Amino acid sequence: MGIKNNIEKFQLELKPYAARLIAVSKTHSTERIREAYQTGQRIFGENKVQELVEKQPQLPLDTAWHLIGHLQRNKVKPIAPFVSLIHSVDSMKLLEEINKQGQNHQRVIHCLLQVYIAREETKFGLSFSELQQFIQSPELASLKFVMIDGLMGMATLTDNQEQIRNEFRSLKKVFDALKQQSLPPFVQMNELSMGMSADYKIALEEGSTMVRIGTAIFGTRELT
Ligand SMILES: *Cc1c(COP(=O)(O)O)cnc(C)c1O
Repeated sequence: MGIKNNIEKFQLELKPYAARLIAVSKTHSTERIREAYQTGQRIFGENKVQELVEKQPQLPLDTAWHLIGHLQRNKVKPIAPFVSLIHSVDSMKLLEEINKQGQNHQRVIHCLLQVYIAREETKFGLSFSELQQFIQSPELASLKFVMIDGLMGMATLTDNQEQIRNEFRSLKKVFDALKQQSLPPFVQMNELSMGMSADYKIALEEGSTMVRIGTAIFGTRELT
């Protein structure tokens, strides 16, 4: 199966859910990304700033680049001029830096808050209680160059489908609850980024609006 077939299969599968496909192109060459672009795919996800900054100028300008991996504050600057969505905001200090860089470029940078849902030590993100505090915090209201579009979460890496489903379901529940609250002006709950190659079907059933798919489109990655 080639990249084209894989993307077409996903477009069909996502349609009934009205969810969007983020083609996770990390470690893959710009030739392969261009191949995906030619099938009509426009949103690509990268997890490393350095790699993203190298690839971005090599694709057409209407390519939307999402930063999906953990982001350090000192790495915001190079992606600020062009990044379409940052999925991985997990601290106010990071969001303040994104706001500052957005202001420098006079553009509003769209973000998701990454929420910790897995039963694993290694995953980044805010806990549910930190998320509440974050959204209520007075600092947030002063940031004019960021827009929070929703939430992102990663399930535990496990074969236990029920556990994965429960983790996604718990995130959807919090997402829906926030949607009912009166939110600050630059916070909206429209996007729920959950699901990867191994668990996207469950994520879609549990209300994902964006799936982040790498391996199932581009094949296995070389270890870097
Ligand atoms: C690599 C990555 C993905 C895609 O993983 P696959 O299993 O290859 O689909 C999704 N989300 C994040 C945050 C990633 O780093």
